[in-house]
Amino acid sequence: MSLVYTCAPAASGAAARRRSKVKTKTRAAGARQPTVDIHCHVFTPEAAALVKDLMRPQNDPYAFFQSAASKQTDAKQSAAIGPKLTSIEERLKAMDGDGIDIQAVSTAPIQYYYWADGTLALRTARLINDNIARICAAHPERFVGLATVPMQVPEYAVRELTRAVHELGFKGVEICPHVEQEELSAERFRPFFAKAEELGAVIFLHPHGFPDGRRLGDHFFQNIVGNPLDTTVAIHHLIFGGVLEAYPRLKIVCAHGGGYLPAYSGRIDHAHAVRPDVRTKIGKAPSSYLKKLYFDTIVFTHHQLAYLVEQYGADHILLGTDYPYDMALPDAVKFVQKAPGLSERERGLILGGNAARLLGIKLPPAGSGCRAAATA
Ligand SMILES: [Zn+2]
Repeated sequence: MSLVYTCAPAASGAAARRRSKVKTKTRAAGARQPTVDIHCHVFTPEAAALVKDLMRPQNDPYAFFQSAASKQTDAKQSAAIGPKLTSIEERLKAMDGDGIDIQAVSTAPIQYYYWADGTLALRTARLINDNIARICAAHPERFVGLATVPMQVPEYAVRELTRAVHELGFKGVEICPHVEQEELSAERFRPFFAKAEELGAVIFLHPHGFPDGRRLGDHFFQNIVGNPLDTTVAIHHLIFGGVLEAYPRLKIVCAHGGGYLPAYSGRIDHAHAVRPDVRTKIGKAPSSYLKKLYFDTIVFTHHQLAYLVEQYGADHILLGTDYPYDMALPDAVKFVQKAPGLSERERGLILGGNAARLLGIKLPPAGSGCRAAATA
């Protein structure tokens, strides 16, 4: 574990002197700013047990379309990361090692269970949310909750989101970019978006493979391409379907840097300008809605991060790790700390300031280590 990110209690004697030297160095470099991880997952075995006899391979397109080699690699990974997905102690150890003060915990996408019947899906969502609530209650200074809701029955999704925010103290909700065969712009999902806006809940848009992954089986494409592609398609629907126009105060954070659209917004504005069939639901330039979205830092290269900051502003980019998967951003905090061209203020916003503002939580003071403040 790097001393730069130590979260251990203050030590005395030689150890304290050594640490003091490190801290002085770190502060001089402006490195220790409070951090919030908006993108990290938990698995709830009790919910999985409820559906295990009902789940069919086609219910999980992420795995269904993958090659045998990818399935094998995923199976090995599952065994290795199981404890990290379920154990609070493992989670805290990783957070301390990685310099993460606060995690905004959301379910592993495999547990969306949008394919299940509504009553069962409501039960699994409640189990998962109660599990996340337990984690938050055990260490309220280190965790905040993002709920999962049964989107296939919007009435239940509204009910569970309301419970999660009002009774469990959650700050947002994680949803998949598609709900089985439906797009998020479908009319029947409007009550969900209305409620999220009313509650001020952050919506974390996180994919689980591409629903039609027939061309994405090889080379782990269902994840490499499919995940950002599904987010990309969903953002198009949210914009062109009028959802972002109808609910302008939505706080949507898009996983994996928002997929591909943030890098190619000129095409949507051009199409909107030249074709009437594109202008059926929205009057303004599509990119004006895109600019209202938020994106995490899981883009792996500094030039891509710089592009997001330049186009959408440092106040729209949030630190994300994708803990604990192999596709996680390595050394996510350092990735932001070492990104060239950012001011200290911009770095602070990306590392934790933006997440604190959107989630409505307080950050620990800068330079205080990983002892975060209670939620606001
Ligand atoms: Zn993820």
